[in-house]
Amino acid sequence: MNAVPRYEHWIEGGWHTPLSRRYLETFDPSDGRPWAYIASGDSADVDRAVEAARKAFPAWSARSPRERGALLMALADAFADHAEELALVESRDNGKLLREVRPLIQYLPEYFRYFGEWADKISGDVISADKADMFAFREWAPIGVCALVTPWNSPLYLLSTKLPAALAAGNTVVVKPSEHASASTLELVQVLEKAGLPSGVVNVVTGLGPDVGAALVRHPHVGKVAFTGGLAGARSVIKASAENLAKLSLELGGKSPQLVFGDADTGAAVAGVLAGVFAASGQSCVAGSRVYVQRGIYEPFVAELVSRAQQIKIGPPSDPDSDIGPVAVRDQLDSTSGLISDAVALGARVAVGGTPWEAPGGSGWYFRPTVLCDVPSEAAIAREEVFGPVVVITPFDTEQEAVRLANDTEYGLAAGIWTRDLARAHRLIPQMQTGLVWVNTYRVASPTVPFGGWGLSGYGLEGGREGLLEFMHSTSVWINTSSAAIDDPFRMR
Ligand code: NAD
Repeated sequence: MNAVPRYEHWIEGGWHTPLSRRYLETFDPSDGRPWAYIASGDSADVDRAVEAARKAFPAWSARSPRERGALLMALADAFADHAEELALVESRDNGKLLREVRPLIQYLPEYFRYFGEWADKISGDVISADKADMFAFREWAPIGVCALVTPWNSPLYLLSTKLPAALAAGNTVVVKPSEHASASTLELVQVLEKAGLPSGVVNVVTGLGPDVGAALVRHPHVGKVAFTGGLAGARSVIKASAENLAKLSLELGGKSPQLVFGDADTGAAVAGVLAGVFAASGQSCVAGSRVYVQRGIYEPFVAELVSRAQQIKIGPPSDPDSDIGPVAVRDQLDSTSGLISDAVALGARVAVGGTPWEAPGGSGWYFRPTVLCDVPSEAAIAREEVFGPVVVITPFDTEQEAVRLANDTEYGLAAGIWTRDLARAHRLIPQMQTGLVWVNTYRVASPTVPFGGWGLSGYGLEGGREGLLEFMHSTSVWINTSSAAIDDPFRMR
């Protein structure tokens, strides 16, 4: 019998046993069994990791930006070379289909290349100030130690949107991956160090959010927290920042609308709606979980969506024929079922799905793709993020009504618009109160395009130049170009 692997913290280029000597089981969602242990950290482990990152900061930030950029390119190549094994680990740990994880992870080195290319192109600017004899300019500086806190649904993707930006900017980091899926992050950091990343520049501590996560984000020597996760965790991070005043970027959840107009290419729209909410078993922050369809095409659209949902093959993540795999966390089966039965009690109709799916052999955490109709707007499932494969579908009559329904949420992450009418698309885009709008497509991302939400979906951006500057401080500089003595020391110039 194979021994169950045990992961320790990764600090200063080596494995570190948690000072408490406690470990957590990490489960394989396809059979519900523990497949590895991870260190259950606490504030003492965080102190060690932050200290290691602090120690590494002077040398790392002193490297020339060009050198840091070149190293990020080498790290990208090493990441690409190990994409397959990393995909296998991640798929095992969070249950995401290998079919989806494999191409995603193959793409992630692009984030390292993109930010590597930025490293020596971060330039400040000369500013024309309205003062005589003054030369003003602005420079950018690294922050120091950054905490990167990631969730379980896409650990390496959500690390890749942060880590290379933090490194390109000259920071050192402590990563805290989710307690439900830490293994791929620990594997990646070893790959990066073998490829030349100096030890201590990236450290990883694992364990529970309220223990090790909370200790990390409130640490007095952490200057920036990039957090992706849910609202409860984000609120704690914000409270912690009242102590250390760390700069924050928060990528949180959503309840994203997709609007399908009567003039849309309905085949493409059905496929986009399916992909938007059932891919990754609905465990995506941008899941298009509220779909509004113009009344003229509502009935045939629902019929087609239901028929396509019925054909979805549920199965283990390693099976190339599976369309949808398990959910990552056992509790999601109960919470999703509970939200559906509450909606049904209020009058909602389950058009397809609605219950967990039992795999042959009876193990694993699977939920059927679910389409709900006639859901009253006060039902929790119409307002709260499910993080499971459930879509609520509702008719609308006019464009104005569609906009009102789309914006009837406290979240503001993403919106989809399906129409062939370009003028309509342009009319609607500025009316969507979201950080992302996709027109005739859904769930597209790139390191070059900033990503972030409004409202309860968080603040700050990842990707693009803005995503890089989130990891930097700005310094404005004034140089007096006159040799005259200060005429009046008590007057502000
Ligand atoms: P979560 O908030 O429970 O956990 C996220 C991370 O935060 C984990 O590493 C966790 O250990 C840590 N954490 C939890 N409490 C903490 C605390 N008090 N202090 C510090 N760290 C803490 O979220 P999850 O359940 O792992 O992930 C699902 C959530 O993530 C969903 O709401 C989803 O929408 C969101 N998400 C957002 C994006 C995005 O880019 N906007 C992407 C993926 C997931």
